[in-house]
Amino acid sequence: MKSYRKELWFETPHRRDFINITPQVEQCLSESGIREGLCLVNAMHITASVFINDDESGLHQDFETWLEKLAPEKPYSQYRHNGFEDNADAHLKRTIMGREVVVAVTNGQLDFGPWEQIFYGEFDGKRKKRVLVKIIGE
Ligand code: ZN
Repeated sequence: MKSYRKELWFETPHRRDFINITPQVEQCLSESGIREGLCLVNAMHITASVFINDDESGLHQDFETWLEKLAPEKPYSQYRHNGFEDNADAHLKRTIMGREVVVAVTNGQLDFGPWEQIFYGEFDGKRKKRVLVKIIGE
């Protein structure tokens, strides 16, 4: 069995952002040489997510609005976590959007359903953060 590991780094200009990282993950798969197996992609930080959905800007605005209703950023004082930090909302948003995705690798390709794309979801940005890509198979 082959095994491949790579860290992808991101630094978003805003506190919250969604980035389509499918091309970078496909590049990893190409580098791995793996044709059949599994590809794990996970955020390495507890205020960021990796998830799969549609690359459609209206939907991304809907996510932002929905997440702000569930866990509004402000007022910071509404959260017990916000003593030395101000990112309680980011921890909550990350939890609902998920930590990782696993995609089947078939015939050297990510085996997606219709319109599926992999996103990095940043909820406490403006600093360097990592995503782990691990691919196993043969
Ligand atoms: Zn925190």
